[in-house]
Amino acid sequence: MIVERVMDAATITSWMHEIDAVVRAERDHLVQLDAAIGDGDHGTNMVRGFEAVVQALDSETSAPPGKLLILAGRTLVSTVGGASGPLWGSALRSGGRVLGDQATFDGPQLVEVLAAALASVKDLGTAAVGDKTMVDALEPAVDTLRARVHDGLQLERALDEAAAAAEAGMRATVTLQARKGRASYLGPRSVGHQDPGATSTALIMRALQRAVRPGD
Ligand code: ADP
Ligand code: MG
Repeated sequence: MIVERVMDAATITSWMHEIDAVVRAERDHLVQLDAAIGDGDHGTNMVRGFEAVVQALDSETSAPPGKLLILAGRTLVSTVGGASGPLWGSALRSGGRVLGDQATFDGPQLVEVLAAALASVKDLGTAAVGDKTMVDALEPAVDTLRARVHDGLQLERALDEAAAAAEAGMRATVTLQARKGRASYLGPRSVGHQDPGATSTALIMRALQRAVRPGD
C-alpha cells in the first residue's frame, strides 16, 4: 500500500532552513563559479536572501504553507539585488499561490507548486533549457518529479530522482554557451564553466528532498 505523504507549513520551514544551511556551506563555491562567468556575488546573494527568509519565517508561527512560500519569495525580492533574487522570489510566490490557504498538501500538489515556480522563472527571465541558467536544473527536476509522482513512486524517492535530474542539468551547463543573464556577455568564453544559478538550484532541490525525508 502506498501511504500518501502529507506536507504542511513545517515542511516549508524545514525546506527553507535546509536551503539556508546548504547555501552557507557552498557560498565560496557559488562565488567562485559566478566570478568565472559573472560578477562573483551569487554565493553572497543566496546566503543573504535565505538568511532573511529563515528569519522572516521564524516569526510566522501560524501561517499556512502557501503563505510561508509567498513570504519567502517577497523576502528574497527585497533582500537580493542580483538576478537570482527576483527570479527565486517570483518562483516561490507563484508556488505559494498554488496552495492558497490550505493547511496541508500532497505530492501531486507539490508538483504543481514547483511547476508554477518554474513557469514564473521562465516568464520573468525568458530563458529556456540550453540557455545556461537555473532553468537547466529546475525544468528537468520538475519534469522528473511530475513523471515519478504520476508513476506512483513514493514521494521521497521521486524527490531524490528530481534532485538527481537537477544535478545532471547543472553539470550539463558546463559545455553550454550562456544566452541569458550576465554570463551571456562573455559569449563563447562562457563555455567550460558551470552555471552558478543552476548549481544553487540543484542545492535547493536536494534541500527539498531532505526536508521531506521519511520519519519527519
Ligand atoms: P547577477 O547575475 O545579477 O549577478 P546572481 O549572480 O545572483 O545575479 O545570479 C546569477 C544566476 O542567475 C545565473 O547563473 C543564472 O543561472 C541566473 N539567471 C540570470 N539571468 C537569468 C534569466 N534571464 N533567466 C533565468 N536565470 C537567470
Ligand atoms: Mg552575480
